[in-house]
Amino acid sequence: MRPAILNPLFAETATLKGVGAALVRQLARLKLNRALDLLFHLPIMAIDRVQVDHIDESLVGRPIIVVLTIVRHDAGGPRSPLRVRAVDGGGQWVDLVFFGQSGAWARAKLPVQEQRRITGKLDRYGQTLQIGHPDIALPGEAMGPMLREPVYPLTEGVTNKRMAQLAALALARAPDLPEWIEPSVRERQGWASWHDSIAAAHALTGEGKAKDRLAYDELLANQLALLLVRRDTRLRRGRALAGDGRLTGPLVQRLPWSLTAAQTRVLGEISGDMAQSSPMLRLLQGDVGSGKTLVALLAMLVAVEAGAQTALLAPTEILARQHFASITRMLGDLPVRVGILTGRDKGKVRADLLDDLAMGRIDILIGTHAIFQEAVDYHDLGLVVVDEQHRFGVAQRLMLASKAKAPPHLLAMTATPIPRSLALTNYGEMDGSQIDELPPGRQPIETRVMAVERSEEVIAALGRHLAAGGQAYWVCPLVEGSENGDEAAAELRAAELKARFGPTVGMVHGRMKPAEKDAVMADFAGGGLGLLVATTVIEVGVDVPNATLMIIEAAERFGLAQLHQLRGRVGRGSGRSVCLLLRGPELSETAKARLKLMRETNDGFRIAEADLALRGAGEILGHRQSGEAAFRVADPERTAKFVAMARDDARLLLDRDGGLEGPRGQAARVLLYLFERDAGVALLRSG
Ligand code: ADP
Ligand code: MG
Repeated sequence: MRPAILNPLFAETATLKGVGAALVRQLARLKLNRALDLLFHLPIMAIDRVQVDHIDESLVGRPIIVVLTIVRHDAGGPRSPLRVRAVDGGGQWVDLVFFGQSGAWARAKLPVQEQRRITGKLDRYGQTLQIGHPDIALPGEAMGPMLREPVYPLTEGVTNKRMAQLAALALARAPDLPEWIEPSVRERQGWASWHDSIAAAHALTGEGKAKDRLAYDELLANQLALLLVRRDTRLRRGRALAGDGRLTGPLVQRLPWSLTAAQTRVLGEISGDMAQSSPMLRLLQGDVGSGKTLVALLAMLVAVEAGAQTALLAPTEILARQHFASITRMLGDLPVRVGILTGRDKGKVRADLLDDLAMGRIDILIGTHAIFQEAVDYHDLGLVVVDEQHRFGVAQRLMLASKAKAPPHLLAMTATPIPRSLALTNYGEMDGSQIDELPPGRQPIETRVMAVERSEEVIAALGRHLAAGGQAYWVCPLVEGSENGDEAAAELRAAELKARFGPTVGMVHGRMKPAEKDAVMADFAGGGLGLLVATTVIEVGVDVPNATLMIIEAAERFGLAQLHQLRGRVGRGSGRSVCLLLRGPELSETAKARLKLMRETNDGFRIAEADLALRGAGEILGHRQSGEAAFRVADPERTAKFVAMARDDARLLLDRDGGLEGPRGQAARVLLYLFERDAGVALLRSG
């Protein structure tokens, strides 16, 4: 049960004074549905105004507050604005300028010969000083504009003033909450109480300290939830799965190469966990092309040897199909039954498959999230492998566990390495394994950045590559703001390249029918197509070792992790690979830095750290990681700064300070509900 002290914050916005149905709808556009949402809807900056008696040139461009005497009204025309001439105490003329207001309105608001307190930004128009659409108040009015005004993220129909009022209403409901932070931590950081901090974060006072504390609170809630999940999993009895090598042995023997030392070590860590009865929670990290898929397959075979079923969850249909194809190929005639289930399998095929699964006639099930829907029953699920994990959150991971009689072992794999701070926030309940070595013989991918004006040269080089029997990818970017712009761009580009190179050009994008996509992918993998024009649907996992040229159009529009992942589609065989990043004419500093780093390094860990550091306020936790780390206050910078501290604090609370039963634990319960850490809250409910 949610602590009653939080009830006023969880009430809907409609319960706030003066908030009607129309405003409720407008606020909902910003996902502001409850007082709590308004409370955490923090201003992003402040306007600092100067209050002056006299206006002069030096103030142009600044927001000011000044008392003026109204002198004359000049009616506006259809094209020209309404101008109200006014003068300050020293005789300086200023025009107050309005578009779309009537003369009558202006005469009522700004009567000639009277004084008004005017607030707005001072501009110059030719020789004239002017203020456009100022705030107007009586000189003596108490509730005038503030010298320091917080600026909120807004939506149409809700002014900043209104948002500030709403914030004030939400703040008025914010109770004093018990302290959940370890006292010595709070003292060392010089943090105020939660209540004072949230108030200061709205007033933008205290140089970010208030926001630091709130971010810490959020990270603490996150770490507590993860540790609770971890503890709960550890306490449950799963099933010990020990293999006998009858499947893994022959498979490894048959490979044309041997496992890398890192693959062998990681496999040891995984099978060591699986041999225990407490369920494995392990995150497998390894750079693009380091051979995670094979490790996963071997782990699954260990489970099959022990008589259990396993499931491999892929983030996209393309990947699921590809895993199915490559796994059945690798298994050859080994006695392992593999099935595939995605959202598009319907009717009898699906019914038969579900039946086989429930009867234990399938050993390995591969698929998209469809494999964990309500209707899917396993006979004896012992191991779940989640590939390219970062699109699945803790909540989903818990849901997986509920599918088995005994909680299954869980192995998660990330597409690219992730920085430690993100690993802690997103996978903090897991142990980690790293493949820190690429298979031998790989040549580093050569990366070049080229201006888009040179695309003719690039296309000529592509032509030579194809003529020599090479294969290549051409990736088109996502077009911002248009519903299906990226597909349109890919279609256009594909048509152009087809006209040039003929039927060797194929295309895939997200809007194509799955069967069409499969056919094109299979054709490319089989060498029937030389060039694949694609959107980012090929971003993760696609494995065609013969493709050694990657061209990425408008590379500046991609994030670093995404570029690294895309580039990782080449350099998968022993041939020399090249990645060409085509860039547009205008690059932001961040984009420049990104492309430079891509040119300089192939090291996924370095790229991941830089990615985090480079993301500005506007690019917080790009779409890719956002699934899990849906933080309200903890931006990447604060996360990097505080997450390890929050981790220690959470551990201390659970292990030494009496857990959730002690006095600090009671406060921590409030914290978990405040930040809606559902996984943690669910455990509180059940335990
Ligand atoms: P990722 O870690 O990106 O998922 P993959 O598992 O797709 O990497 O492996 C990349 C390529 O390397 C595949 O073609 C795979 O067959 C190959 N590979 C995997 N392990 C080895 C190894 N030990 N030696 C040589 N090639 C390997
Ligand atoms: Mg992979």
